[in-house]
Amino acid sequence: HRHTCRALQSTSAPERALQYTPGQNIHGFTIKEVVSVPDLFLTAVKLTHDQTGAHYLHAARDDSNNLFSVQFRTTPMDSTGVPHILEHTVLCGSQRFPVRDPLLRVSSAASDYTMYPFSTQNSKDFKNLLSVYLDAVFFPCLREQDFWQEGWRLENEDPSNPKSPLVFKGVVFNEMKGAFSDNERLYAQYLQNKLFPDHTYSVVSGGEPLCIPDLTWNQLKQFHATHYHPSNARFFTYGDLPLEQHLQQIHQEALSKFERIDPKTEVPPQPHWPYPREAHVSCGPDALAPDQTRQNTLCVSFLLPEVGFEEERIEALLHKIEIQMKHQSTNFGLALASYIASSWNHDGDPVELLQISDSVNRFKQALKDNPRYLQEKVQEYFKDNTHRLTLSMSPDEQYLDKQAKSEEEKLQQKVQVLTEEDRKEIYDKGLELLSAQSAPQDASCLPALKVSDIDPVTTRIPVQISSVGGVPVQLCEQPTNGLVYFRALCNLNTLSEDLRPLVPLFCSVITKMGCGSLDYRQQAQEMELRTGGMSVSAQVIPDSSHLDMYEQGMVLSSSCLERNLPHMFGLWRDVFNRPHFDDEERLRVLVMMSAQELANGISYSGHMYAMTRAARHLTPAGDLHETFGGMEQVKFMKRVAEMQDLNHVIRTLPRLKKHLFNPHNMRCAINATPQKMSDSTKHLETFLKEVSGNRKDRKPVRPNTILVLYTSIIERYHTITILRIDMFCDSNYQPCHMKTFFQMPFPVNFVSQSIRTVPFTHQDYASLSVLARMMTAKYLHGEIREKGGAYGGGARMGSGLFTFYSYRDPQSAQTLAAFRRGVDWAKAGLFSQQDIDEAKLSVFSAVDAPVAPSDKGMSLFLNGVTDDMRDAHRQRLFRVSHQDLLDVAERYLSVGRCTDGAAILGPENEVIRKDPSWIIK
Ligand SMILES: [Zn+2]
Repeated sequence: HRHTCRALQSTSAPERALQYTPGQNIHGFTIKEVVSVPDLFLTAVKLTHDQTGAHYLHAARDDSNNLFSVQFRTTPMDSTGVPHILEHTVLCGSQRFPVRDPLLRVSSAASDYTMYPFSTQNSKDFKNLLSVYLDAVFFPCLREQDFWQEGWRLENEDPSNPKSPLVFKGVVFNEMKGAFSDNERLYAQYLQNKLFPDHTYSVVSGGEPLCIPDLTWNQLKQFHATHYHPSNARFFTYGDLPLEQHLQQIHQEALSKFERIDPKTEVPPQPHWPYPREAHVSCGPDALAPDQTRQNTLCVSFLLPEVGFEEERIEALLHKIEIQMKHQSTNFGLALASYIASSWNHDGDPVELLQISDSVNRFKQALKDNPRYLQEKVQEYFKDNTHRLTLSMSPDEQYLDKQAKSEEEKLQQKVQVLTEEDRKEIYDKGLELLSAQSAPQDASCLPALKVSDIDPVTTRIPVQISSVGGVPVQLCEQPTNGLVYFRALCNLNTLSEDLRPLVPLFCSVITKMGCGSLDYRQQAQEMELRTGGMSVSAQVIPDSSHLDMYEQGMVLSSSCLERNLPHMFGLWRDVFNRPHFDDEERLRVLVMMSAQELANGISYSGHMYAMTRAARHLTPAGDLHETFGGMEQVKFMKRVAEMQDLNHVIRTLPRLKKHLFNPHNMRCAINATPQKMSDSTKHLETFLKEVSGNRKDRKPVRPNTILVLYTSIIERYHTITILRIDMFCDSNYQPCHMKTFFQMPFPVNFVSQSIRTVPFTHQDYASLSVLARMMTAKYLHGEIREKGGAYGGGARMGSGLFTFYSYRDPQSAQTLAAFRRGVDWAKAGLFSQQDIDEAKLSVFSAVDAPVAPSDKGMSLFLNGVTDDMRDAHRQRLFRVSHQDLLDVAERYLSVGRCTDGAAILGPENEVIRKDPSWIIK
């Protein structure tokens, strides 16, 4: 036993990294600093590249989900969106890998840096991806065509017709038009620009739609040469793979080919204002926001010199830090990369940032030395601060028209100076681009995993099913770093139809109204002090074997440090037994907030709303999903928020509570360390005893509820109790075809079409999943994004539905036609074995995505998907053949053979208005 311990210790990644010494030279890099950070279980190694001055930080940690990221300081001095368009174009192909790879499109841009991260659990995959990313950022092709496609171009509206009018096209151009229709985003943008009016923060780094057409291809290439240079780069790697290999590969494949430059990208400090300022801006009206007359936004912002301690309650802050350090997320590497990115970008020390407990201790010491420390800080940063901006924003009825008019003027400016020759050239280039986009991509030059590299079997998750106080409980022992995760699912089968739309409202207010002896402020503080958060959400869970069966429920979710178990369950007890429903004032604030949040979310998640709506009449679960989280819910909340008197709502809350908080309809789950499991169960038992007054034997409102027994669980664990799931089965359900159009006050569309297919356990589900990925990468991406100019689009399989969608799309009817041609493309079978393998790998990377200890066992608990079911799906995925894909395309997706629905959210649309088959909302 001793021997194993030592062997394990000597292979731990943080310990291995501690062997490095400052001054040591490895593959062209010099080690500057090696620091152990025990709070985060990692060792930080800071290096610089000798030849170019590139900065490098490695965090060695025993986590197999390794991460690489490279970030560049990108500080534009105009609003043409050059860093944003560059971010798009570098992913269009590079010297060694001159192909577009739609699966590679992950990057993130802030207003002053651009970052390219990826993570993987497979070391071969890491090496491959590292080659592709290095080549993409340092040696991109940046072809003129890439610039036209991703940035902006003038083109005939119909590229094949030289007589059709010239219009602006381009992915970023449309993306930013969409982004600027989001009022919250617009406000944040103005705020930044006006608070920092003297340098890079005064411009729109993503691109102002009307400035984008001022950018030239040469300017783009110039920006790349000066900004995407190793001397302006910061590399970060994280995980358990050896550092030397990363350094060697990065030096050989990229950095050794550069000489040091002075990128001159530092941002000078903003001069402090001697007097506060005020400004006013206008925005578009928001059709779905509650109360049109009260849509003004006001905010006071300060320029804070360095960092301020914003938390008033120090204990709550320290508790929060402790929880954050112990909570294991699956993307810990990415979280670290994002955490250090901004400060590192301005030459802050990333190692210092990682040493969180040192900062906490310094803070405690400062507080001890000077009890007025915080008050003085507040005085300095807020009260006495003259760099203060009061920015107000209000809707302008004419806003959209004015925008459209300025775009038209800009277009005329460009078009008027064109000669006949120029026009001919634009037409020819448009055709060239179209044919380049239509040419099949040969991705075989990209290094990639093979399907045979994929693990042949599913990793099983051991859970125990037992019963506590008559309530079924799933226990899952996990290395949770001393945190306990609690979930409960309350089945809503006894709820009458008329109360259903109120369930999301109930969920969003129930932990925020106060409970027991606590008012809502005290409750919030107690939750912050004792738990890692407590939330309640509405759930629609489609059955994995029958399309017309589903479970409707509400999920309670919370976590806490082991020492706080009694407090966490005590809070839940008070929420169950003595919630405060009678504070109309508080309820009004919460209702306004959620209605506003829903309305604001549409321009960002429009594709989700379109997909939900398209699926509404295809399955009973789809119908409920629309009620809980679709456009119906947005409109319902708007009506509630506009009510003069909320007493009617207040009276329904206790009625809902009776159905929702009924232990008779509950099942629970706990994820904790093996040592703390029995303690956790004991506290859960006490809780269940205390809330047993809510237990009622209620008859389901619908007689056709059936009981699904998870036999495979019983067999495997030989337990006496089973996890019981009551399902609704609507055996008389008739799916129907429905097309709905929502006219919205934004200039782009979200288009979706959904087709009823088969449930998760069906034979053909795997083939349809692979088909959706392949159709997205090999057909829809090219049609909808590259040719159509939408920000995104594709197909996905889930909940028994095959669903097409587009995101921030200048087209609508054309996109629906592209969906149909996608099916024809699949039925024609013009795809290769490599296309199929790529799609399979992409499906597997989702299936095998790492699951955090807090979430292990959740697909069984919530969805009833057992390990055996997951494994059967896995085996089917491996077997999917060319013929299978042809078969499912023919059988499920062919016009005339399928039942489908469609939905569009978008601006006024003449074609659809004249088409009687559409319902206009
Ligand atoms: Zn973009």
